[in-house]
Amino acid sequence: MTIDLKNLTIQNTHEALVRGDFTVRELVEAYLNVIQSRDGDIHAYLEVYADALQQADLAQEIIKSGKSTLLTGIPFALKDNILLKGKIASSGSKMLENYHATYDATAVARLKKEGAVFIGRTNMDEFAMGGSTENSAYGATKNPHDITRVPGGTSGGSAAAVAADMALVALGSDTGGSIRQPASFCGLVGLKPTYGGVSRYGLMAAVSSFDQIGPITKTVTDAEIIFTAIHGKDEHDGTSISETTYTPQRVGKTKPVIGVPYEFLKANSGSEGESGIDRDVLENFNQSIEHFKKLGFEVKDISLPNISNCLPVYYILNFAEVSSNLARYDGVKYGFNKEGKDFKDEYFKTRAAGFGTEARRRILLGTYVLSSGYYDAYYNKANAARTLITNDFHTAFEKVDIIITPTTPAPAFKIGEKVSNPLAMYLEDIFTVTPNLIGMPAMSIPSGFSEIEGKKLPLGIQMVARHGDEKTLFEAGKIFLGEK
Ligand code: GLN
Repeated sequence: MTIDLKNLTIQNTHEALVRGDFTVRELVEAYLNVIQSRDGDIHAYLEVYADALQQADLAQEIIKSGKSTLLTGIPFALKDNILLKGKIASSGSKMLENYHATYDATAVARLKKEGAVFIGRTNMDEFAMGGSTENSAYGATKNPHDITRVPGGTSGGSAAAVAADMALVALGSDTGGSIRQPASFCGLVGLKPTYGGVSRYGLMAAVSSFDQIGPITKTVTDAEIIFTAIHGKDEHDGTSISETTYTPQRVGKTKPVIGVPYEFLKANSGSEGESGIDRDVLENFNQSIEHFKKLGFEVKDISLPNISNCLPVYYILNFAEVSSNLARYDGVKYGFNKEGKDFKDEYFKTRAAGFGTEARRRILLGTYVLSSGYYDAYYNKANAARTLITNDFHTAFEKVDIIITPTTPAPAFKIGEKVSNPLAMYLEDIFTVTPNLIGMPAMSIPSGFSEIEGKKLPLGIQMVARHGDEKTLFEAGKIFLGEK
């Protein structure tokens, strides 16, 4: 039997499984077949789990017993930095090449409980640093829409797997855009939850005050179903938040009011030939605004006076926290080790050989901004600016419910185009880093295509909502995409 993988959603797959149109095993086999034929070119997976079909049979038992939920038997791809007990999780790094997880991440445990099937672990930029999946120690992942281009990053493997029908849905992690940017480059929906919305227990730390696990899916409804299953208070993560700490939902029954930071967009538009937002992206964004208006949304101009500092603030804090989080990889406690003549020598050799270029760059810069002479000038100043940016959003959210921008300044770029130019790579994050700085939820949804060299490259828009107000993102996203 052939299963129409392209049009599967969690809901219709669930119904088909319960009706018995196909079994979970047949479904998983269908995905494994696509992996077999396509992943040689795309390289979304670092490993396809040997027990995927056994997991499928277990899920089938749950369905048979009549106790299935929406997620029973749903095939997931899992980013390589999220722990699944007994399986390797390498965070795209040589450092953890043979590290086997000793427990399940809370998000994974919650999905397992519902009988979700984990097909395999997906490629990513090493320790979630990058924007193209080229910083993986295991080679680059290609964009299924054009294999000469990147799928985005750092959850590029997860996004490519879903876009190429090599998994129905995926989990990624987002520190400064790593779910939303690859979702946008691959024509998918990507949600970065409110900070603390989803437990970070079992997610390898990159930047502890920014990191969040979230779904990458084909529809907003699917993202909502997964978020509902994995979110909530967890005793293993002191920063996880409970329902009651969520901000009150929007009052009234009218559609959410949309804010557009026109000034910020203009400042980054540049003129012909200058760097800045791509022309197709701007045009698509303006069309998206018109689409929202036609659907009955009110759109307002808003100002975010401090947002021009978002990239330097993000990167200073990112480097600082990364340098401290990666200190644990010393060749003694975990994984990779390169022998030296004494402890110090061994430490230096292990870290020099175990980490890739970008990781080493950030460790050096992070150590610098945290050093005693520069702590006040860089780290503390960036933290102060973080507060100012957060306050800008609080003020804006007094008159609007959602703030929209393009997700990325340009569509997917060519493999190799930016990898040797870190600044160019960092500039890709101009729209996505702010929600992580301020802890508010943000979602990228597909908004159209840009045609380049005969290929249709997906574009996306990003919606940001108040702290704890994922619901409004789902509501607006579903209306925008015409989902019931
Ligand atoms: N591109 C950003 C960075 O390199 C975001 C990465 C992420 O979200 N993990 O920091």
